[in-house]
Amino acid sequence: MSCIFCKIINGDIPANKIYEDDKVLAFYDINPKAKKHGLLIPKVHRESLNDISDSDSDIIAYMMIKIKDIAEMMGIKESGYRVVSNCGEDGGQEVDHIHFHILGGEKL
Ligand code: 5GP
Ligand code: ZN
Repeated sequence: MSCIFCKIINGDIPANKIYEDDKVLAFYDINPKAKKHGLLIPKVHRESLNDISDSDSDIIAYMMIKIKDIAEMMGIKESGYRVVSNCGEDGGQEVDHIHFHILGGEKL
């Protein structure tokens, strides 16, 4: 398995974890683009927003609902934050495992 985020899920690569359960993992970005920068990923491998279908509704909805809890664990729920998902080359996607950036800790 070559996907770097799948390797993090499997524990083959270490990560500074924020939250984990049976469906999702959140961890701090190794190269933060804001004072607080988390990444939320599903444990199931999907490449990007282009790679999800109706059968993924539950996991995508679950991730959306979990974002505020992860923001709270990052200490930025009340101060506010930005959620971003880059898709494809022009979107600036570097890792082909769908993820939501959770950015905050400063005025963006
Ligand atoms: P993308 O550009 O695909 O939207 O975002 C990928 C993000 O993953 C980047 O912000 C990058 O810094 C982060 N990243 C890449 N490799 C690793 C890693 O091994 N560990 C962690 N924690 N973050 C990573
Ligand atoms: Zn993956």
